[in-house]
Amino acid sequence: MFYYTPPRNLLNNKIILVTGAGDGIGRTAAKTYAKYGAKVILLGRTIKKLESIYDEINKAEYPRPAIYPMNLEGATPTDYDNLAETISKEFGRLDGLLHNAGILGTLTPIEHYDIKQWYQVMQVNLNAPFMLTRACLGLLKAAPDASIIFTSSSVGRKAKAYWGAYAVSKFGIEGLMQILADELETNTKIRVNSINPGATRTVMRAEAYPGEDVKTVTPPEAIMPLYLYLMGADSAEVNGQAMDAQ
Ligand code: NDP
Repeated sequence: MFYYTPPRNLLNNKIILVTGAGDGIGRTAAKTYAKYGAKVILLGRTIKKLESIYDEINKAEYPRPAIYPMNLEGATPTDYDNLAETISKEFGRLDGLLHNAGILGTLTPIEHYDIKQWYQVMQVNLNAPFMLTRACLGLLKAAPDASIIFTSSSVGRKAKAYWGAYAVSKFGIEGLMQILADELETNTKIRVNSINPGATRTVMRAEAYPGEDVKTVTPPEAIMPLYLYLMGADSAEVNGQAMDAQ
């Protein structure tokens, strides 16, 4: 487990965009970032779920978040430009970007992998983070010390049979992270890193391991120290690192 004790005001006045904020790890990360002072932009595809986390954050009297419904599977470059434009108008900058949304696809041999599903997984897990990052770079440059966090997986670092498009998309994410970290190292204050959450108790985990006793799986709250560390100023000098939350 990654250990880190954040100061209570770690993310005060930060504007942080979290994708897939309605459920699982993204939901917990959004609430945690708000708890440490951030104004969180909740991006996801199911409005009901976004409203529920929005209410939860308000009820806890953390900074009021913003909701941005968006389906990353069908989003066009114009949709990303519109999102960046909205953030620019509202806040003028972006301090943090957590690419968390993801889909599993099917666990099956490459020989039988459904081609349409391959495209879907690559679109949500890899192409969307690329387009979203590209659209937000101006906003991230406008912040004093911005952090981009990509979400990887153990199979994005060492692949395994049957993990198909999911594993390939996560390898792509690690590549994108390394390229950006290198490109932004010299002339910007933006750092770029990736997190492998490790086995975490969510709908996706249950989908991948249906036979598993969920009580034995780490809850999302337990992996938040790394999510906080990489988002806050204590990681200002950390760039291009592939890190493990557990
Ligand atoms: P969940 O399935 O619980 O949550 C995924 C989130 O992504 C949901 O909020 C979902 O929205 C959102 N999402 C999916 N597709 C889209 C889309 N097309 N547009 C917008 N939002 C979308 O997954 P986890 O919380 O488990 O996973 C979070 C990240 O962590 C993923 O990138 C995953 O690959 C990674 N990961 C998870 C591990 C684990 O053990 N849980 C292990 C290793 C990596 P909605 O709720 O509306 O469906």
